[in-house]
Parts: sequence; structure tokens; C-alpha cells
Amino acid sequence: MSDALNECTVVELRRRLRAGEICARDIVLSVEAAIAARDEVIGGYLHRDVERALEAADAADLSLPLGGIPVAVKDVINVAGQPLTCASKMLGGYVSTWDATAVARLRAAGAIPFGKVNCDEFAMGSTTENSALRVTRNPWDLERVPGGSSGGSAAVVAAGEAIVSLGTDTGGSIRQPASFCGITGMKPTYGRVSRSGLVAYASSLDGIGPMARTAEDAALLLQAMAGHDVLDSTSLREGVPDYVAAVGQGVKGMRIGLPKEYFVEGIEPGVRAAVMEAVRGLERAGATVKEITLPHTEYAVATYYIIATAEASANLARFDGIRYGHRCEDPANLREVYDRSRAEGFGAEVKRRIILGTYVLSSGYYDAYYGKAQKVRTLIRRDFEEAFREVDLIAGPVCPVPAFRIGEHAADPLEMYLADIFTIAANLAGICGISVPCGFTESGGKNLPVGLQLMGRPLGESDLLRAAGEWQRVSDWHLRRPVVG
Ligand code: GLN
Repeated sequence: MSDALNECTVVELRRRLRAGEICARDIVLSVEAAIAARDEVIGGYLHRDVERALEAADAADLSLPLGGIPVAVKDVINVAGQPLTCASKMLGGYVSTWDATAVARLRAAGAIPFGKVNCDEFAMGSTTENSALRVTRNPWDLERVPGGSSGGSAAVVAAGEAIVSLGTDTGGSIRQPASFCGITGMKPTYGRVSRSGLVAYASSLDGIGPMARTAEDAALLLQAMAGHDVLDSTSLREGVPDYVAAVGQGVKGMRIGLPKEYFVEGIEPGVRAAVMEAVRGLERAGATVKEITLPHTEYAVATYYIIATAEASANLARFDGIRYGHRCEDPANLREVYDRSRAEGFGAEVKRRIILGTYVLSSGYYDAYYGKAQKVRTLIRRDFEEAFREVDLIAGPVCPVPAFRIGEHAADPLEMYLADIFTIAANLAGICGISVPCGFTESGGKNLPVGLQLMGRPLGESDLLRAAGEWQRVSDWHLRRPVVG
């Protein structure tokens, strides 16, 4: 029995722990055994600390909400005593001296931060191929990417190499890999979870969120992490509702909007069919469904890639060869320390974004690009404000297509940016969103998972969890597991 603990939900493990059927050590060992068996193929982990995890498991307080539950953490988040790489050569050798607030709160709720997982370098990307450290594969088809940037976080949960994980979402990086790997991933409202201890990519868009097998597990993690934090002045002061209870509250009377801009040409028919089937399922469960419009959707990609790169160029200035991580050998002068350390430490995508971001902020171009993008961002936010006057939730695909083939977009970054069309608007508007498994689509002889995206009002996480929970009560897509190796 215990060798399947790695495949269980948090809810199931809690029940068995509290019933005394298993101990927390068994869970860590079971996860570790799965990693030993599969991670060479999947490539999810960058680091793990089994000894300390076992010590923590032996000391676990099982009365706490997450007592004894191991959590994998995306490697852009600080976990005290563990290396922090941001999947970059730039931070080689750096070990975190402190816990991010989200991690500290998970620990306080009894969870065990077990290891660090791969992602795109500094969370920039949609495939995890931008990691400078290793390739991560999609457990449903090893020739495909797990999505990104939180690809490791998604892959390890899908492959049974973790129970739950933390991801970060700046433009879709939790929802898209969750969708590609057939798991549940939530991007909370901007400011709902503290960003303290998260290495900044684009500070006005970044957020930490849970990745899990079920909405209920995601709710348990969010419950532990959410709330105001003095270390992040943008964290929200509003009280934290009972997210776990919301999961069971059903969707009777909820109004769901289908944006016509999210069901256009270019969406793979299998993706559209799975998403519509889930929407009909929620309708049968008592929700009402109507068409809505988000008229500025077509500008979202351009707006996002101006604002995100602008913020990234400022945030990444701190990696200068002086204060953190990589420093070049034998520099002739100070200028060379900066130039060569950065040239050697950063990968191609990170450099591309620093150059783009510096350009859109430079004098003479600022008004034409950055300033204008901020105005369009306001229009996009207003689209959602208007829509949420009429509906409680917005439903659509997470991504127009299922998981890409490894290398598919290598030659054309723009093509990959365009596939972010349905996720980035939520970040620009600061609202919350979730991806839940809603079926499969056939591609190249393989069945690939499809995610339903639900977006909610600012602080509408309970609405997302009601709908996601109800959908998982009436469907079983989230119970499907890939066969790995
Ligand atoms: N794919 C988007 C990007 O490359 C989103 C990344 C993210 O959410 N961290 O910027």
C-alpha cells in the first residue's frame, strides 16, 4: 500500500496519517522512491534535502493542516538552507539564508519543503526549455514540454514525484503547465500571497500559487499561504476566507461568462471541445452560462511583453557579478566585471528580455512603448471590471493548443509568446485564475491533457474553488495518471 503514497492527495494522506495507518516518514520515502525511479527521465528536480525532510517528518505535528506533507518548490523561491538557482548559471553556488513568506507559512502549517524544481530561467518562458540546468519532460509524452515556466512544479506532481508544489505565475506560468500536465494550478489575485522571498521577474505581475492534484489540495495550500505580510507592501490586508469550505459549495446560481475572444480561430478543436464539455458540466450543476466580451484581448500579448520585460530589465540589474552569484574570471576593470559576468551568467532568453525591456524604457521610446502599454493595461483591467458586473466567473481555454513538442518553438520566440494569449490578461488585470483538467486531445498518437481556465474577480478565489471543486466532483479527468517509464 505505502508505495502508492506518492500518488495520493493531501486530503487522503491527512486522513491516513491521522488514522495512524501511515507516518509522515512513509510519505517522504515514497516520494523519494518515485523520484529515484523516474526523475532521470522526467528531469523535474534540481535539489532535494531528504535527510532534513525525514527529520522534519519525524517531528511533524499531524494536528496541523499540512502536518507531514512534503512540498516541492519552484526554484525561484527561497527555502532556507537550500540552493536557489532560478534555473540560471547566474546564481550558481547561492544558498538561501531565509524562507520566502509563502514557504515559512507552509512550514508553520506543518508542511515540509522537500526540494527545488526546475523552471525557465528566472521564470521567463512557457516550456521550461529556458532552464540552464536541465531538460524537463512532460510525463504524458516524453517528447513534449511540461509547459512553463513552472514546468518542474507541474511535471513532478503529474508524475507522482511530489504530492503538491509551489509555482509562480507572471503571465500564466502556473496555469499553463498545470494544463499541459493534467493537474490543478491556481494563480491567486495579485497580492493575495506575499511575494517576499520570490526572486522578482516582473514585480507588478508576479505571484506565488499552489499546484496540486485537486482543487481541494490547492485550497489547503492557499489557505496556509494567503494573507497580509509586512515584508511585502503590495500584499493585501483583506481577511482570508475559508477556501477549503468553498470547494464543496457547488455552483448553483453562479454566472459564468464565455468571452467570445477566447473561442476564436486557431484554437485546436480538441481543446475547444474539452473546454466546452466542462462548461456544459458546470451548467448542468446549476450555473448559468452566457457569452461576454473582453474587447482588448488582442492587445494583451504586446502589452504584457512590454511591461514584463521593462520590469525584468530593472529587476535583473541586481545580478551584476558583485552582490550575488556568478562573477567572471580575471576582469581587467569594473566595467568588464559587469559585462562579462552578465554575458556569461544569463541565457539567451533572459538577455533578449533585458534588451527589450531596456529599449522600451529608454528615453525617446518610453512614451511610445512603456507609457502606452500602461494605458492599454488599464483598458484590459476595465474589460474585466465590466465583465464581472454581469458574471461571477469567466471560463475558457488555458492555451489554444496542448503541450508543445520539445524544440518546437526554438527558432521563433514570438510564436511562443503568442500562445500566452489566454493567460496573461489575468496578470495584467491582477485577478485570479485556475486551471483544472477537463479532458484530453489527441496529437501525434498521444493523448495530451487539456485544462479549463476559470478566472475570478479580485479576491474571488473562493468562486474559483467552488467551480473547480464542483467540476472535480462530477468529472474524473483529474484522477487520470500518466504511465511513466
Ligand atoms: N510565458 C510567460 C513569459 O514568458 C509567462 C511566464 C510566467 O508567468 N512566469 O513571460
